Amino acid sequence: MTIFDKIINGDIPSYKVYENQDVLAFLDISQVTPGHTLVVPKKHVDDIFGYDTDTAQKVLLQLPIIARAIKASNSDITGINIQSNNGPSAGQSVLYSHWHLIPRFDNDGLTGTLAPTIDNSAEFSPERYQKIADAIKAQFGKE
Ligand code: 5GP
Repeated sequence: MTIFDKIINGDIPSYKVYENQDVLAFLDISQVTPGHTLVVPKKHVDDIFGYDTDTAQKVLLQLPIIARAIKASNSDITGINIQSNNGPSAGQSVLYSHWHLIPRFDNDGLTGTLAPTIDNSAEFSPERYQKIADAIKAQFGKE
């Protein structure tokens, strides 16, 4: 059982930004940049190699929708990196498939592989996480 199984089961808390029957999106604790979100299938999949077609469709279809909501939540966001690490050799540290959506800001100074190499969690209070999650959540249904 991974930390993301526990988040999906509700055994440990997370700052949720989107949820449907099949997919959950919540803030990455590390906040590589403000709004850094993880998208996961609710059905346990270890990594990209373990997806059945139905689960892949359900998860991948949500990526543009969630990306648009993140971008709309903060007018300073000008781009988003989408990254998924698969297998320990590729830097996967939580063995539950997840898609990093990392907002980018003009001149944010970041380059290269972003997650999980940067941990900004010390700069985020519960109130700050919640405010970001709420701003993203408020964008769904506006389209
Ligand atoms: P990976 O290295 O597997 O691509 O990314 C794992 C990500 O999970 C990291 O960016 C890390 O910050 C995040 N993470 C680890 N533990 C937790 C947690 O308990 N809650 C949340 N929201 N994110 C976590």
